[in-house]
Amino acid sequence: MLPFARASLRSATTARVSTKLTAQRRGLAIHEYLSMEQLQSYGVATPKGFPANTASEARAAAEKLGTDDLVIKAQVLAGGRGKGTFSSGLKGGVRLINSPAQAEELAGKMLGQTLVTKQTGAAGKVCNTVYIAERKYARKEYYFAILMDRKTKGPALVASSEGGVDIETVAKENPSAIISVPIDIHTGLTDDIAKQVVSAMGFSSPSAESQARETIQRLYKLFIERDATQVEINPLSETSDGKVLCMDAKLNFDDNAEFRQQDVFALRDTTQEDPREVQAHKSDLNYIGLDGSIGCLVNGAGLAMSTLDIIQLHGGKPANFLDVGGGATAKQVTEAFKLISSDHNVTAILVNIFGGIMRCDVIAEGIISAVNELDMDIPLVVRLQGSKVDEAKALIASSGLKIFSEDDLDKAANLSVKVSKIVQLAKESGVSIKFDPSQ
Ligand code: GDP
Ligand code: MN
Repeated sequence: MLPFARASLRSATTARVSTKLTAQRRGLAIHEYLSMEQLQSYGVATPKGFPANTASEARAAAEKLGTDDLVIKAQVLAGGRGKGTFSSGLKGGVRLINSPAQAEELAGKMLGQTLVTKQTGAAGKVCNTVYIAERKYARKEYYFAILMDRKTKGPALVASSEGGVDIETVAKENPSAIISVPIDIHTGLTDDIAKQVVSAMGFSSPSAESQARETIQRLYKLFIERDATQVEINPLSETSDGKVLCMDAKLNFDDNAEFRQQDVFALRDTTQEDPREVQAHKSDLNYIGLDGSIGCLVNGAGLAMSTLDIIQLHGGKPANFLDVGGGATAKQVTEAFKLISSDHNVTAILVNIFGGIMRCDVIAEGIISAVNELDMDIPLVVRLQGSKVDEAKALIASSGLKIFSEDDLDKAANLSVKVSKIVQLAKESGVSIKFDPSQ
């Protein structure tokens, strides 16, 4: 997948328009085998293939394909699978195989393992499905993508004659081999532009060129109709028998289009996402996991960022960024606490709420029910200001719970850092301590 936030692509000729692609990364990603089904539904040519969730299903899939020229591909949501390594030590998330027996054997070695690629980070991604596909012989491999480009606020085509390999490497070492063309979303992808792009890619025959033009027109139709933010085909291959095929597809979709793309969004595979973020998403919370020890519950992204800064200023490290937003319910606040307290690194929680639309008493109710329900023993520092703050304080005071209340943000942050450090020291030396804020 091209990290378009960073890719700087230069055009090779004047006919090709230069763009610095700065699209965003958010959105739904779906597995390759599902992406292939989307492509096929738009009449785009792909190798035939079937997904499998067990080793014996993999064998059956291979038998159904009726050929011994096969490829097995780990279905994880990350690029660079070909060069990835499984937790078991097995090399390659994409392997060429020669029989149904081999499909079964390799599927057995891939399924249930995690695959680490240059895009997954050290934790890798679990492989619960493999894709068994017919292996086609590529005469040449190309790169083709359609992205939503922030800079031009519209789609952009990115194409290269250097496909099959890591596009970031091409962008670095041979940037003139990549062309990018912004598309006017109102006019769409014209035949002229399709022609220009395809001829710049350098297909080997007029027949291949016309198949490639047809392919990119259909991919563009999919991109628009399905509210995609990325359609990346790498490799787009020209086979030895003159066919143009999409051998890999990475599709991303705009989160804001979920309401009208429900069948696409039903394809989400949450096993490929950070479980804490999945949980947060379910409760409509904005959550980003960080690696420090102070859990933060705040409202509003600006307040969240300043809270993180103040914690660091006092020598602490935030464990997360959790924004309950403007209209959170007490139930959502409880969910937020569950999320924060399930992180074993958290040794203190700082609540920093500026009540406006968000009422402090709702937050207080959420805090109280969370502490009771979770039997939480992580020390809590609470700073509430604004709408219904007196009601909130009265609720906390009468709850009998041990909560540090602090009106001043600086003091609250400082206190959370100190408390967190004490708890951490106690943990390290195996001592159990309980704070009593009334002392
Ligand atoms: P990625 O590494 O995650 O992008 O996975 P790909 O699906 O792109 O596979 C990696 C590489 O394996 C591709 O760039 C191709 O060179 C090769 N490959 C994938 N599918 C096929 C196939 O059907 N036939 C052949 N010959 N090579 C393939
Ligand atoms: Mn690929």
